[in-house]
Amino acid sequence: MGMTIMRRVKFNAGHRLFRHEGKCQFFHGHNYVADFYVTGPETDAVGRIIDFAQLKALLKGWIDENWDHGFLLNVEDENGLNAIRMVEPTKYFVLPYNPTAENMARYLLDEVCPNVLNELGVQAVKVVIWETEESCAEATLDQDDKREHSLFDSFQTDSFPTGLHW
Ligand SMILES: [Zn+2]
Repeated sequence: MGMTIMRRVKFNAGHRLFRHEGKCQFFHGHNYVADFYVTGPETDAVGRIIDFAQLKALLKGWIDENWDHGFLLNVEDENGLNAIRMVEPTKYFVLPYNPTAENMARYLLDEVCPNVLNELGVQAVKVVIWETEESCAEATLDQDDKREHSLFDSFQTDSFPTGLHW
């Protein structure tokens, strides 16, 4: 039997979509909602996969530190990055692709969750990013990625200047 729990994390962030043909090319922001779906091999003596408070501390902790009240930009968006670097103080996070809801969900599932959740012995299998109340994107692990995923993932080993900047 498989058991999955979900923890919701709300945050605010600015972004723009590089090369977008419409209004999303402009700096703007959203009240985002991220839903993290987490599974574990078994429940503990109390009946938990993981304590919700631990999930909150790790997942909301990462979001608060890296994305909340920050700006998310594509590494290729030099003009946008130059602009955000001029603001003092500034907080922005560079992604290796456009900060769409799809890519934000993918980044959380592939890059953030394996590292953040590793120590707890649980695994995020799905992340949903709600950009508005009407629209969301969902990233799910491929079947092959399950189990092995958390063991072999490494965090930002590439040479992209991605990640958090202050
Ligand atoms: Zn937007």
